[in-house]
Formats: sequence, structure tokens, C-alpha cells
Amino acid sequence: MKIDAHKISQEQLIQTSELLKGEYADSMGEFNFAIEKLMEPENIIQGEIEIDMDNGNSKKFSAYRVQHNNSRGPYKGGIRFHQEVSLPEVKALSTWMTWKCAVTGIPYGGGKGGVAVNPQELSKKELQRLSRAYVQFIAPEIGAWKDIPAPDVNTNSQIMAWMVDEFQLWLDKQGYIQENPLAAFTGKPILLGGSQGRGEATGYGGVVILEELAKKKNWKPSEITIAIQGFGNVGYWFAYHAYQKGYKIVAISDSKGTVYSDRDGINPTEALKSKKENGSLCEFSKKYKRITNEELLELPVTILAPSALEGVITEKNAENIKAEAIIEMANGPIDIIADKILSEKGILVVPDILANAGGVTVSYFEWVQNLYGYQWNRDEVISKLTPLMQEGFSNMWELINHYKVTGRIATYSYAVKKVIDAIILRGRV
Ligand code: NAD
Repeated sequence: MKIDAHKISQEQLIQTSELLKGEYADSMGEFNFAIEKLMEPENIIQGEIEIDMDNGNSKKFSAYRVQHNNSRGPYKGGIRFHQEVSLPEVKALSTWMTWKCAVTGIPYGGGKGGVAVNPQELSKKELQRLSRAYVQFIAPEIGAWKDIPAPDVNTNSQIMAWMVDEFQLWLDKQGYIQENPLAAFTGKPILLGGSQGRGEATGYGGVVILEELAKKKNWKPSEITIAIQGFGNVGYWFAYHAYQKGYKIVAISDSKGTVYSDRDGINPTEALKSKKENGSLCEFSKKYKRITNEELLELPVTILAPSALEGVITEKNAENIKAEAIIEMANGPIDIIADKILSEKGILVVPDILANAGGVTVSYFEWVQNLYGYQWNRDEVISKLTPLMQEGFSNMWELINHYKVTGRIATYSYAVKKVIDAIILRGRV
């Protein structure tokens, strides 16, 4: 049975509210109201979208856009194309976006969208029709000041380009000439107002967290071993920047192959070259020790960075995890029970809402550039991102020590407090 991600996100909010309530002793009514409000999204747009298929038939797909909370700014969050997309999943992802935007302080709320489709079964033309149909479906509810979508699993900058175009056509038809269609989507191609540095931002941001953790622990990069599950956009850039800083990458994997080299370590650039030439890490892995994807998670390394899927560390394998710390680069890789087991084992978990916040933070920079007509270079973008990630880590560290809680609860308490305070300041209680 698939986990109910929304129940997990609600459970996380309940745990955090237990910790925070002491700080709202004088305004308990407002606090309780805000928590109740945050348990469910503000708006749910759901229905079916229909497209013409290449064979002349038409086909319907379930589509969703969920807007969780906009107290801190417009809703922000990606669009996922995946056969398992469901309302509870999109609700959870939109909730996590509310917290993630609060972590680095960018002025957004949380949203998320999705279509239940396996995009690999569509031709390029069908994919374009689906992307355009999805925009027609959500167009009245989005915009640069309302809700700003972006890519997520199985959507990319090409899909954003089609979506921006469709949104512009829709705006023209409505006569909304003051809307800025470019600023209504992020993760666009550079040619269409995308930002330099966006591709590497999530992985890079994770390495800023790694560096901050290493400082606190007095770790020398050359003595630190790292295992990374998932070698896509996030996993590769995390590996690349960690390698550049002298950390030893001992294991990487994708859906088809796992590479393990505890003696010499792995050069991510070489691994990527082979992955591009052969379509997966399979060929590259032949030169190295063969282990399974499950074994990768259980390696005796300093840092484990799950960078692929949700729910890969559960009560089934949490006891076997030997890493000293986990940096959650994927969204939701650890379930609630596993989280508890890891905390009892003394393993520090840097939660996804902080570890992978680099991506949405550079999306925010893209939006700012679109609104002002700026074009920042890569170094300018990275130099703006770095201190926000460092501050996020430092807030987490301080609260871990202050409340004696896990990294996840510490980060949640910081993020959720900001959102509650915004709700109270607005008088929405
Ligand atoms: P991606 O599609 O580029 O890469 C995913 C990688 O995971 C691929 O290498 C794939 O082969 C691998 N994979 C799939 N199944 C696997 C398995 N069973 N075992 C090992 N590897 C497996 O996706 P991405 O953009 O890198 O996103 C990865 C995760 O990071 C997702 O959870 C996503 O929501 C999250 N995330 C991404 C961004 C971003 O900017 N791209 C930002 C925040 C969070």
C-alpha cells in the first residue's frame, strides 16, 4: 500500500505544534486556529483534462493544483507528471513547500501540482498537448502574484516553455495585458527568462549544508565518505560540488546501476560522462564493486544523501543505516517510523525542507530577475544563495541545541513559526 504522504505531513505539523505551543501561551486561541488552518490546504483545484492522442482518439487524465498557504507570499511549487500522482500526495507536497519557502525566508507560500500520467508513454506532441491542457485547467488560479509553478518529477524546462506560451495565449485572450507571463513560471530555459545556476542550485545548496555540518563537527573533507542514492539532477550536482571541495564520494546509484569504490572514490564527472554515453550507470559500474541499491543505503559512510525517491528509508531498513548523518536531498526519503529509529540511533538528519531548498531559492531569484528584467550571471546567483543556505543551517543547529530535538523538528519549528506569525500578523485568525 502506498504511504499517505498527507497524513505524514499532518503528523509532522502536530509534532511541531507540541514544541511551539509554549511560545504562544498568551495567544493560544490564535495559535490553535493557525495550526488547524495549516492542517489542510487553502484551495484544491482538481478535475480531468482531455487531450487528442496521435492515433486520433482522445484521453483523459486526472489533474491537480493544490494551494496550501499564501500568508508569506504567492503559492509556489512544482508540477509533477507521474502515474502515481494523487490528491493526498499533492496536498503533502504543497504543505512541504510552505515550510521550505519559510526555511530560507523567500517570500512565498506553498503550492504543488500534478497530472496522473506516465509521460514515457506519450509522444513529444502529446506531452506538449498535455502541458498546454494543464495550463488551460489552472490558468485562472495562477500568475506572478498568485501562484508560480515550476518543474518537478518528469517535468523540465521544455515543459515550462510550453506552459509559459500557453499561459501568455490565455492572458491575451482574456485581455490581461498587465500580467507578466515569464514571472508566472520558474525553471524555464535560459532563453525564455530562466536563471543561470538553477540546474545546479539544489545539489549545490546541499553541499553548503554539508560544509556547515563539517565545520560544526570539525571534519576534514578528505576523511569524509559520502554515498548518494540517485544520480539525476540533484544527485549529480551534489556529488560534483562535494568532490570539488575534496570530499570522497564512495558510492552512487541510479535506477539501473550502483557504483561502490571505498578505496579510491568516484569522480562524478567521469560517472556522468559514462551515464550520458550509455543511458545509465550500468556500464560505469562494471569497473567497480557491485552492490545493490539497498546495500548502498546501509554502507558505513559519514554522509548518506538519498537523492532519488520518497520513502526509501523505512522501519524495514532504518536499524541497518550506519551513516553518521543523512542529508535528505530528495523530498520525503525517510518515513515517520524510520525518522524515530534514526534519531534513537543518534544519526543526524538534515531534513529535505532545508537540504534541498537551494532549488526553490534560485527559482525565487529567477522570478525577481523576470519581474525586474535583470539577468544575473551564475556567480551572482550562487553568491546570493550561499548565505541563505548557511543561515538555514545555523537556525537548525541552534534549535537542535535549544530544544534538544531532531534536525527535522528543529527546522520545522523554525519554518512553521514563521508561517504562524504571518497568519497572526495578517489577522487571519
Ligand atoms: P531526476 O529525475 O533528475 O533524477 C532522479 C535519479 O534517481 C535518476 O538518476 C534515477 O535513475 C534515480 N533513481 C530512480 N529510481 C531509483 C532507485 N530505485 N534507486 C536509485 N536511483 C533511482 O530527479 P531530480 O530532479 O534529481 O530529483 C530527485 C529528488 O530530489 C526528487 O525527490 C525531487 O522531488 C527532489 N528535488 C529536486 C529538486 C530539483 O531542483 N531538481 C529540488 C528539490 C527537491
